[in-house]
Order: sequence, then C-alpha cells, then structure tokens
Amino acid sequence: MIRRCRQHGFFRGDRCECGDEGTLVLDEAKTEQLGRLIAGALRHFPDDLGLAMNSRGWVDLAILADVVKTRHRWANQNLLLALVQSDPKQRYEIVDGKIRARYGHSVDVELDHPRNELPLLYYGAAEEEAARILEVGLRSATQRYVHLSTGPEKAWHVGTFRTSNPKVIKIEAAAAQDAGVKMMRVNDSIVISDPVPAEYLSLIPSRDLASLKAQQR
Ligand SMILES: [Zn+2]
Repeated sequence: MIRRCRQHGFFRGDRCECGDEGTLVLDEAKTEQLGRLIAGALRHFPDDLGLAMNSRGWVDLAILADVVKTRHRWANQNLLLALVQSDPKQRYEIVDGKIRARYGHSVDVELDHPRNELPLLYYGAAEEEAARILEVGLRSATQRYVHLSTGPEKAWHVGTFRTSNPKVIKIEAAAAQDAGVKMMRVNDSIVISDPVPAEYLSLIPSRDLASLKAQQR
C-alpha cells in the first residue's frame, strides 16, 4: 500500500517515519499490480509493450504512463511517481521525464551507475550451486548482471530465499575491477556486476557463517 505524508511525501505501509498516517494513495492490490507491470516494462519485456528503451535502460515516462493506462484504467503518471518515490529498494529512478529500472534487468542494457568502491562483495548460493560457481565463475543465466551483496550477512540472507542452508562466496571486487570486470553500486545492499571469473571467488568457511546466522537472529 502507498500512502502520502503531507510533510514527507509518498511512503509504503501504515505510517510515515514521522508517525503520520497520511492519506491513502494506492491500496495493496493495486500497488502490487502496478509494481508487477512496471517491473515487466522496465526490466523484462519493454518491446512487448511497444516501449522504446535506450541502451541505458531509459524509457519516456509519459509514454510509459499511457501504456500502463491501457492495462489499468485507474493508473496515471502520478501513481508511477508514487510507486518510484516510495520504493524502499530504490528499484527505479526518474530523471528529466524519463524512467528506468536501476537493476534487475533481463533485457540487454549497459547501465551507468557509480563504480563500486567496496573491496569485497558477497554472494549467497545453495551448496551445489556454490561448488559450481567456484569452478566456472559467477554469472547469471537469466539476468543481465549478477547481483552481489555488500555484506556477508546480506548475501546469506538472500541465499535463504532459495535454500535453507546457503553458502556464502566472497568476491575480491577491487582486484576483479582492476582486471576490467565492471561493477556498479545500485543501493546500500546491492552491487551489480558483469560475470566474475572464478579466480576472484572463495568460499567463506562455515564456522564464520555460524556467527553471521547468530547476528541475523
Ligand atoms: Zn511524514
């Protein structure tokens, strides 16, 4: 659900950070519907919706709003702004009348976010998957970029969505970038990356993981 605080603008959930209940902008079901359509349009199938996307992933906001209206008559450009501005994961951005997804693309884009400055990054995976990654390197079969985590506990947490007992792979990000692997920071938690060769990858020992799990509890 998206609500709007008079002082702080659009927010998700029942209350703004300031404690104000604000006013309802979009209910839970419609927020979900709009979110799914925008993700599809900006990450996965712009062509199917007749949207012209440039190589950096941008499409025209007004045209997207028109396309969205043909699917959901209640939708409009203001609701797109509400969705983008209230998104806790900063999935999208709007600049000069254009909108794009900041990460999560399956379509082929060349994004231009700031270069990653963290020397180490992390990736959570199931045990068999981790073994394979350490052998052949890290790449995504479905996504344009690999999504890496900025901390080991975050990677472990992401891994728990796919498996009960994830392994965490450590990535020597600075060394890989020096060797030409492009890595970009998209928010506090996520760095997107071109494929990472196996030589920059190592497994975090399970005894170190145990303390990460303790921190999560
Ligand atoms: Zn507020």
